[in-house]
Amino acid sequence: MWHFMPELTDNNALTPAAAALWQQIPAWAQAKLLANVWCSHCGRVTAITDFSGEVVSGDLVLTGACPVCGATVKRLIESEPVRRSHEI
Ligand SMILES: [Zn+2]
Repeated sequence: MWHFMPELTDNNALTPAAAALWQQIPAWAQAKLLANVWCSHCGRVTAITDFSGEVVSGDLVLTGACPVCGATVKRLIESEPVRRSHEI
């Protein structure tokens, strides 16, 4: 029985579909994802803060702000290791 209640989602706005995907990610992995986001303005990997999330083409996309410069950053999270059962 899994029963994750990630604190990280509490003050962020995720669509229900995005929240469902997000909650399947272990907390340690969530923290890692949030702390490794490319900021094109900084030109390096920073983090994402104040993010919202939605599902785009089956993947979770977080949109938030770079904590260093405040620019908008996005983090794409491929929700599942490709499901190709009906290709076989
Ligand atoms: Zn930045």
